[in-house]
Amino acid sequence: MDEIERGKPPFANIDALLISHVHADHFNLPSTVRFLKTHPATIVVAPDQVSKQIHKALTGDSQALSRIHTATLEQNSITTRDEGGVRIGSFPLTHGNIENAAYLVVLDRRTVLHIGDADLPMKGLAQFGLSHRRIDLAFVPFWQLTDNPKRVQTLIAAKVVIPMHLITNPTTDTSKGFMEHVGGRERMLRQIRICFPNAAIFLAPLETKSF
Ligand SMILES: [Zn+2]
Repeated sequence: MDEIERGKPPFANIDALLISHVHADHFNLPSTVRFLKTHPATIVVAPDQVSKQIHKALTGDSQALSRIHTATLEQNSITTRDEGGVRIGSFPLTHGNIENAAYLVVLDRRTVLHIGDADLPMKGLAQFGLSHRRIDLAFVPFWQLTDNPKRVQTLIAAKVVIPMHLITNPTTDTSKGFMEHVGGRERMLRQIRICFPNAAIFLAPLETKSF
């Protein structure tokens, strides 16, 4: 995280920081503020619950404030914005009772989807027409791949899925329950590989893959 905050390679020249939702494993206010100070050209897109906190923390810093954008989350369409050659689309997917932004990013003719921590069963996904968008990479929480594979295959239809939230060391009751539910980490990974032979599974920090 320190390297990202300070913009050390390969984390220099970041165009946009997209934040899906307010949960602590997806957003940290002091870290975001540090990041904005060391990346004077990077824009931030975040749901209102997050952008409000950032706005408050940056009071008086008009240069940084001008780079904070609240994601538009419409129930029935993807809202897009163009930022220096990057097309950023945003739309909502349910995650408990908080705002969870999904992002569809087009960059260098590659289309990348990140669905935040979308809950099962992702009702309402069909209305966004993602299967026609030729998604190259989709970042998806692993529970969508183990418990909802059909929907991910047909409604997202990405060339490559990247499972997120792979639990290595379950410590909380929620993560322990999850691991029990999927029959342990090895079984979970096996199941993902069977349903998604093209999954790109990252197992170590800073592991890299090229697409
Ligand atoms: Zn979450």
